Amino acid sequence: MITPGGRTVQEGRLRNIEGKVFDLVIVGAGVAGASAAILASQRGLSALLVESQFFPRDKVCGGCLNQRAQCFLQSIGLYDNIKSAGALVIDRLHVQINKYSSQWDVPSMLSVRRSTLDQMLVDHAEHCGATFVDGTRAKIQSIDSESNSQHRVVLLKGTSNTTEPVSVLGKRIVVASGLSRSSLPISEEWPASVMENSRIGLHTLIPRDEVPESLASSVLGDKPLLHMLVGSAGYLGICDTDGGYVDLAAAMDPSAVRVAKDVGATVQQLLRECGVDSDFVRDLNWQSTPHLTRQSECVAKQNIFLLGDATGYVEPFTGEGMSWALKGAEALVPLLYQANLSSDTETAEKEWNLWITKHRNHRQRISRWVARQSRQAERAKWVLRMCDWVPPIRNRLLHSIMT
Ligand SMILES: Cc1cc2nc3c(=O)[nH]c(=O)nc-3n(C[C@H](O)[C@H](O)[C@H](O)COP(=O)(O)OP(=O)(O)OC[C@H]3O[C@@H](n4cnc5c(N)ncnc54)[C@H](O)[C@@H]3O)c2cc1C
Repeated sequence: MITPGGRTVQEGRLRNIEGKVFDLVIVGAGVAGASAAILASQRGLSALLVESQFFPRDKVCGGCLNQRAQCFLQSIGLYDNIKSAGALVIDRLHVQINKYSSQWDVPSMLSVRRSTLDQMLVDHAEHCGATFVDGTRAKIQSIDSESNSQHRVVLLKGTSNTTEPVSVLGKRIVVASGLSRSSLPISEEWPASVMENSRIGLHTLIPRDEVPESLASSVLGDKPLLHMLVGSAGYLGICDTDGGYVDLAAAMDPSAVRVAKDVGATVQQLLRECGVDSDFVRDLNWQSTPHLTRQSECVAKQNIFLLGDATGYVEPFTGEGMSWALKGAEALVPLLYQANLSSDTETAEKEWNLWITKHRNHRQRISRWVARQSRQAERAKWVLRMCDWVPPIRNRLLHSIMT
């Protein structure tokens, strides 16, 4: 969505920053980039936050914030604002595998649209002193001649084709561009392994009063609840969110989408396997992502630091993704601050590579396990039964996925 006069404002902002030097140029104003901009500005670093989409924008995401993510929002003073904006507390999970289903209490999550959340983070970043330009694609260039050897040049190109690119200089660059790597200088120098049978992400939002009775009666109740419906080609999360919307987010096998020739038909088939007949999902406006499960081999070199999904992602979306992005921002900004004080970027790069390797492996173990179970319906049903019969196992599992 383009804000009224968005293009003109964006062109004016680009002209104002042409040739400027920033301590940090941050590419991507998702949760990772925006929170890094907040924390960096609070420490006095000059930060430019560049976003290719016009804000506010929605993106492929279930929008559920787990407890760690909520703590972060509390720590920067935004938790109450997000609740006042209509975010919903969800403390019950319904999992359905084909026709077998279970319901449990879970640690409270907060359901919020990404257009709401990301706009609030960006507003806060600006309030803390960061400069924000949206509707602008960033492309990092190679290190310039001697005079700028400590800097990276970032080319900024407005998404309206009439604007000429402008360049800015960054002492250090944070790439928080999610699954897209288009801003990196030479992508072969930043290899990422993508898992062969990785799923793709799908997403749409529907006004609640437009949800047909067939779906509403099966999955929407009086109290907010997160529904996870698992079928042979993937799984779909459905929950109420702010603004009177219902959020539908799925991870599906790309081969199933190819065979059905239509994203909506794949989701319809999944719902059918779970006993819900709903033709209308075929006609919805689905957004999709590239393959989800991937890992970047190196996450920092040559003054560039990857953050959030850009470092790697594993498909389950249980509130993990955003809390990983936020936790990463909390860990990275102090390193960047030190590097700025000491002009020693190499140490920060080394430490960031170590931090990511240590925490990513630990965090991804459980996500990979859940991803494997979801691919085998019979095994997954046994896991559900076990969770029903042995509450301590259930609580441990839910705790490791959802807190
Ligand atoms: C189907 C699905 C459901 C999910 N559900 C949840 C959930 O319920 N809870 C949860 O915590 N996580 C969930 N996730 C994961 C979560 O969405 C991500 O982990 C999270 O968005 C990562 O944040 P990020 O800031 O790293 O990247 P993003 O949020 O992807 O932000 C990247 C930003 O960079 C911008 N960008 C890209 N290239 C450029 C460029 N060249 N120049 C400028 N800007 C650029 C993009 O437009 C985008 O705004 C889900 C993921 C999927 C696929």
